[in-house]
Amino acid sequence: MAQPPIAIRALRDAGILELQWPGSPATTSRIPFKVLRCECPCASCIEEWSGQRLIDPDKIPNDVRPTEMTFSGNYALKFAWSDGHNTGLYTWEQLAAIAHDYPA
Ligand SMILES: [Zn+2]
Repeated sequence: MAQPPIAIRALRDAGILELQWPGSPATTSRIPFKVLRCECPCASCIEEWSGQRLIDPDKIPNDVRPTEMTFSGNYALKFAWSDGHNTGLYTWEQLAAIAHDYPA
């Protein structure tokens, strides 16, 4: 089970989600909104049995941003996006996996 981030900040001007992860020292990652949107793990964005991505990143606006972020229980973060998509539930594991590629 991945640890939840200790801090989550949407840097709207920069178009980045900043996450701080527990540890000593704590680590920070900065994930561009568009990357996060393209990595949406919901069933309409990724085919569950094959893992094949069903969305075309070229069709996602470059300035896509979250319009709403809500916690789902204590295991995931749910995003509503400016392109109207709002079914993506990102578990801490999934966020940590994406964040790994975007150290601050
Ligand atoms: Zn999705």
